[in-house]
Amino acid sequence: MAQRTYPGHTLIGNIATTKRRAKGDVMRQLKQERQADPGAESWLLMFQGEYQPGYWITLLARKNATLKAIDTELRYVWLECCSHLSAFTIYGEEYSSYPDRWTTEKGMNVPLGELFSAGLTGKYIYDYGDSTYLTFKVLDLVPYAPAGGKDIELVARNDPPDIRCSVCGKPATTICLECLDESPGDAFLCDDCFGEHECDEEMSLPVVNSPRMGQCAYTG
Ligand SMILES: [Zn+2]
Ligand SMILES: [Zn+2]
Ligand SMILES: [Zn+2]
Repeated sequence: MAQRTYPGHTLIGNIATTKRRAKGDVMRQLKQERQADPGAESWLLMFQGEYQPGYWITLLARKNATLKAIDTELRYVWLECCSHLSAFTIYGEEYSSYPDRWTTEKGMNVPLGELFSAGLTGKYIYDYGDSTYLTFKVLDLVPYAPAGGKDIELVARNDPPDIRCSVCGKPATTICLECLDESPGDAFLCDDCFGEHECDEEMSLPVVNSPRMGQCAYTG
């Protein structure tokens, strides 16, 4: 079976890449554009939609940034709609954005250096109602710091998938949520065709570059 490629770009240098090549391309860009600094170790991380592998991002995270900092970045780039709960699962243990104080549930105020090692994989959930599921992998520990003194930097991202209007074939801009339930193949529409579409206009969300597209009230 042919492997699908999932195209994207590095945000350092804006180089065309793919999910598979992103680690190498990001490393090359870091070497070209930044001073290696052994005192500034950071994790290179790959996140993707668990059921939508075409949505992926690569993050550079300070070695002792917290899970909370990654959660904040994931929400900012991909997920936030109404401050839902979220949690990481690492080594079978849950780290919750709002830990239940009556149980032993852990929070996200944990330094990555205590948990991460190159090759580690884990999961992440945003919203226990209309859930978005992600998986992640720790690609490597690298001698570079995120730009601008930040804890986390987005360093590569998938290109927006080419989603077409189910009526006319132009680029789709709107998802009809009524159709998404009944017949997902007809749910993606351009502005013109959505204007003619018979379902409730309120029941729609924009097409956005995120694995949360079409869920809850997510508008990008
Ligand atoms: Zn929501
Ligand atoms: Zn159309
Ligand atoms: Zn519809």
